[in-house]
Amino acid sequence: MAKKVKAIGLLSGGLDSVLACALIRQQGIEVTGLLIRTGFTDHKEVSADGKRSVEDTAKALGVKFRVENIQDEYWDTLLYPKYGYGKNVNPCLDCHLHMIHVAARVMEEEGADFVFTGEVMGQRPKSQLAHQMKIALNESGLEGKLLRPLSALCLEPTIPELEGLVDRTKLKGFQGRGRTPQLQLAKELGVEDLAVAAGGNCYLIVPEYGDRFKDLLKQYGKDNFPKEDAPLLRIGRHFRISEIAKMVISRDESEYHLLQPYIAGRYFFELENVIGGIGIGTGEFSQEDMKLAAQLLARYSKAKQDEEVLVHVRLNEKTWNIKCTALSVDDPLVSHMRI
Ligand code: SF4
Repeated sequence: MAKKVKAIGLLSGGLDSVLACALIRQQGIEVTGLLIRTGFTDHKEVSADGKRSVEDTAKALGVKFRVENIQDEYWDTLLYPKYGYGKNVNPCLDCHLHMIHVAARVMEEEGADFVFTGEVMGQRPKSQLAHQMKIALNESGLEGKLLRPLSALCLEPTIPELEGLVDRTKLKGFQGRGRTPQLQLAKELGVEDLAVAAGGNCYLIVPEYGDRFKDLLKQYGKDNFPKEDAPLLRIGRHFRISEIAKMVISRDESEYHLLQPYIAGRYFFELENVIGGIGIGTGEFSQEDMKLAAQLLARYSKAKQDEEVLVHVRLNEKTWNIKCTALSVDDPLVSHMRI
């Protein structure tokens, strides 16, 4: 009996990765949809309508599903990217190469014949990409075994095509940034409703997240970067109080709860006589810094202008009681400190 052809497809849940999986699956090939978690994507990886996870998408496509969590090893890629960052703190080129290495490892483990991705040529112009990709493929043992089903007809045939494991005539030759051919193909393949997933939702390309990340890098440097604070950068309002003191203020009740795990070992600011959020201070606060942070916390509370506000501050066994008034709503200091 002929050996079953197996392939590993990177599956983020976005349109292109869904189409690539559907195209390869359609050829009777056993596909494993591989979701790689860097630690900087939405954990649930749900569709835009909030109803479907990537795992659900894999099931609906009739492919197996595997998750690789690479959070720990990803830190090196993020903090020391060989090819630098994009507009924010997204080390896309290094990240892409890292994922290729992970996919190659999974291909070996699963005894698969090749790896494929939903990449479309010319969608992300990066002059270095072609050259670096060649090097990465060489290093990973994937050379000739990385197929891009959506753009295959614009590329040299890969080994699985040359060996007849994949029918090249059924692959596509999409190029450029337009989405029309993909939407048309989704209809033809009957996967339009599967392709609403938002993809990876990578925080590293979000400007606000990038600013907060760079701010921490400035305070701690790469070697001492507080990795445990990376999720905190997505919660609350962030303020730089001094070069060594930073404050995060909750915006609503859900953030009040999300901040709870960060209280231990940090400055905890709580309003005593007015309703408002809580504050978490990291770094080292002088008395003046604490007063400023308390005024800032009061600024986002129900305190009236000139009302005396009591703020209780705690750090491990130490406590302070601060009386202050809220910074005014339009005080330029607020926007100056905001990250
Ligand atoms: S957007 Fe994020 S996940 Fe995607 S390649 Fe760039 S860094 Fe990696």
